[in-house]
Amino acid sequence: MALIVHKYGGTSMGSTERIRNVAKRVAKWVRAGHQLVVVPSAMSGETNRLLGLAKELAPAKPGDAYLRELDMLGSTGEQVSVGLLSIALQAEGLEAVSYAGWQVPIRTNSAYTKARIESIDDRKVRADLAAGKVVVITGFQGVDDGGNITTLGRGGSDTSAVAVAAAMKAAECLIYTDVDGVYTTDPRVVPEARRLATVSFEEMLEMASMGSKVLQIRSVEFAGKYKVPLRVLSSFTPWDIPIEEEAKSGTLITFEEDEQMEQAVVSGIAFNRDEAKVSILGVPDKPGIAYTILGAVADANIEVDVIIQNLSKDGKTDFSFTVHRNDYARTVDLLKGSVLPTLGTDRIEGDTRICKVSIVGIGMRSHVGIASKMFRALSEEGINIQMISTSEIKTSVVIDEKYMELAVRALHRAFDLDQPAAA
Ligand code: ASP
Ligand code: MG
Repeated sequence: MALIVHKYGGTSMGSTERIRNVAKRVAKWVRAGHQLVVVPSAMSGETNRLLGLAKELAPAKPGDAYLRELDMLGSTGEQVSVGLLSIALQAEGLEAVSYAGWQVPIRTNSAYTKARIESIDDRKVRADLAAGKVVVITGFQGVDDGGNITTLGRGGSDTSAVAVAAAMKAAECLIYTDVDGVYTTDPRVVPEARRLATVSFEEMLEMASMGSKVLQIRSVEFAGKYKVPLRVLSSFTPWDIPIEEEAKSGTLITFEEDEQMEQAVVSGIAFNRDEAKVSILGVPDKPGIAYTILGAVADANIEVDVIIQNLSKDGKTDFSFTVHRNDYARTVDLLKGSVLPTLGTDRIEGDTRICKVSIVGIGMRSHVGIASKMFRALSEEGINIQMISTSEIKTSVVIDEKYMELAVRALHRAFDLDQPAAA
């Protein structure tokens, strides 16, 4: 008998029929002797619908007064879900009880719409489990010290589930979703993409930060910090498939390199089109330049990703970096307004039609020549690399967005990801 957390995404909760299926699946696990805590998302589309209503009344506004009400509103989708799911579980003959975040309580800080979980009191939940009940807890929401309802950011139910699993020291946290696991790359771009049976937590973190939307990135960070065994699997298998089969399906996120298995050097190709490039030309090459530019950007709370500074010629250099596309206009305005005049240049260029493509793999730590293999594959396709950045387990390039799919396919082939990894 084990304590297990199940998380169901919005699609899995999308209709009463689907909720009934979730209940039957949960009942199967309970009848196999497990204790179950279930964390569902809002029914699909519901959070968007709710937040859309707010926008009809007033455009999004910074400031806690407005954001507090957004959380009050946006969190209700999950309350509907836990009520419905508990009713469905009871209809399956189980004892079930639901809690909103504040009832557990799941305590967070007060950063409305992107709150962080600080602690979870598991006493009530443990008592219910001991009494033979299934406990259903709202995803996405918590409560701050002032008793205000908070939400954890879009996709935050993943983090709720992992945090509950961590607090309760659950044997495993199963994330049931509308894909059947983590893939070598997006199968819509590369039809030959394969599901990974396992992926290390660090690789998952890189892939999540690169826009693989399978898991909210914070949930992966949480799982890593508390070593929560995490599995991503499909909620679209028939609910009555054998539990042994279900328990092994999907992708397991691992924490140690499995010595038994020959790890593929590169596990996946990630990509995103969310960034834009800003270049400042003819900057004097002297100490403090990077700080002058990027300090101003950071002070405006704008996150910078890839950075390059060219070799200087005649005491002048060019400085380029990428930011999120949503921050692009603000970044350029800010630099034009207060930074460029102090640098003695007015030459600024931007490009919003770029994308970033990365190869990710913990095997890169112990192998040389991986980046050059990447560059060769891109050059064979005639793709020009504009920027490069590397970390221990990732190499990223910034290229023209129109070559994105070509690049992803070429890299997927170059690193033999179409073939199953050698055993
Ligand atoms: N319902 C929330 C959202 O749509 C949280 C979640 O689904 O994880 O973002
Ligand atoms: Mg999600």
